[in-house]
Amino acid sequence: MEKIYYNNQLLKRSSELRKDENFLKSILDSEDVNFIPMKDDENYFISGKEEIKPLILTRRELERYIKDISLDKMIFLGKINEKFYFSINIKSKIEKNTFINQGDIITDQLRNVIGSLTELDSSYLALAKGMTFWHEKNKFCGVCGSKTKMEEAGFVLRCVNKNCNQSHFPRTDPAIITLVSNKDKVLLARSSRFPQKMYSTLAGFVEPGESLELALKREVYEEVGVNVYKIEYFQSQPWPFPASLMLGFFAETEDTDLNIDEDEIEDANWFNISQLKDLTHPEIKDGFKLPRFDSIARRLVNDWIRRYE
Ligand SMILES: [Zn+2]
Repeated sequence: MEKIYYNNQLLKRSSELRKDENFLKSILDSEDVNFIPMKDDENYFISGKEEIKPLILTRRELERYIKDISLDKMIFLGKINEKFYFSINIKSKIEKNTFINQGDIITDQLRNVIGSLTELDSSYLALAKGMTFWHEKNKFCGVCGSKTKMEEAGFVLRCVNKNCNQSHFPRTDPAIITLVSNKDKVLLARSSRFPQKMYSTLAGFVEPGESLELALKREVYEEVGVNVYKIEYFQSQPWPFPASLMLGFFAETEDTDLNIDEDEIEDANWFNISQLKDLTHPEIKDGFKLPRFDSIARRLVNDWIRRYE
């Protein structure tokens, strides 16, 4: 079974508790709470000799950095087993100290260390990252420009201007991602932003007033000039880098000639199953790389290979 990162069913969001301020305040003072510190868009980790793991603070540890621990600074992430998880964006740097002496304390982008983390750890770290990004980008009301304040344990930002009083909710941008195939070949492409030699499935954002299917057809046609049919939903994956939900599809085409949009795509090619497995391609010098293991793009490729075996 392939690992699926950035969400996990063992993380119970417990959304019914978000409005229960008295209960959440009582948890903050208890032993049953784990605090997940953030440094803006980077997560905190403990980097030991052999492993990297998330930095999780107890209340006593957090008090070293935050004098006044109150609910209006905390985002309630949910519950794992019997522990309640909150995240907080800490502006002062957390350093190695007598409380934390199992390794070096580092901050990094979640994707850079994902290979060392469990699927469960990746879920609350991704939620903390996505929510912190949204908070940092929504300090002011988009309607009247006044400040916003946190409500519902961080899942609502309300305008402080009484005449406006607008509620703002966390946003997720839907993006389609699709493996296009023609008989025994799949279409992979690369943009100039990708790591060297990496080829991936086609992807793009859904626009207002557009269905997933039409967004998929439009993106594929715009990027490589082929018409697709037989669109089949695969899986989805939260992608808080910074705020997307990737919706994975398979699609088929009868068009094999490509018309590449050079503004978006540096190169695109058809790959057959044996090339996908040994990562060689006659037109691509020194071979190519598949998308990273933590991406839904890679799961689309792997699943397509399995269908042929
Ligand atoms: Zn407002």
